[in-house]
Amino acid sequence: MRILLVEDEKAIADFIARGLEAEGHAVTWVADGIDGEALARTGRFDLILLDLMLPGKDGLEVLASLRREDGSTPVILLTAKGEVADRVAGLDAGANDYVTKPFAFEELVARIRAQLRSPAQGSATELRTGDIELDLLRRRVKRGDVEVLLSAREFDLLAYMMRHPGQVLSREQLLNGVWGYDYDPGTNIVGVYIAYLRRKLAMEGRPDPIETLRSVGYRLRDGR
Ligand code: CA
Repeated sequence: MRILLVEDEKAIADFIARGLEAEGHAVTWVADGIDGEALARTGRFDLILLDLMLPGKDGLEVLASLRREDGSTPVILLTAKGEVADRVAGLDAGANDYVTKPFAFEELVARIRAQLRSPAQGSATELRTGDIELDLLRRRVKRGDVEVLLSAREFDLLAYMMRHPGQVLSREQLLNGVWGYDYDPGTNIVGVYIAYLRRKLAMEGRPDPIETLRSVGYRLRDGR
């Protein structure tokens, strides 16, 4: 895969580039936002790793500029610990996922793999994540062999999450993606429906499939 790495800290960039090249990826590294934006917009990359704090142009601006013309190339943000608000803004601006520095290389590789395999699942009428199966045409859900009965909204929420397995989804993304119109951003309706879903999907001896990332959002575990 061709990966664009936009990161101004050389030590981190070296660590990532060496590791990804060892995995067989071709990595193009640039250290500032202006070059990053120009290369991102060429459409030559399968995936983009984007730092937020960059010289020239910051990561959020680069992302917004890219998303105006290209909604599909996966973007993973490389964020620092304190940047929770930026992380949420990044997800809302169209980032697919993020990793928090310092991160283990394995975590980054897992996030990249999750991105590179999700497009194929985007158009299927049956989705599968871990032990959960969802049939979009018949609107039926099973966990293992057990049928799970969901309300229309719960079904839509689960389907949205299953289209983005292993990705962190912010409350606002879920609100826009599932409810589809501008709710009061202060509403807790997403949290309420996540709780309903958890209760209905709960199964003795099996883990909770939905992970809560405090003040960031939710992630459906992809069971790998
Ligand atoms: Ca930086």
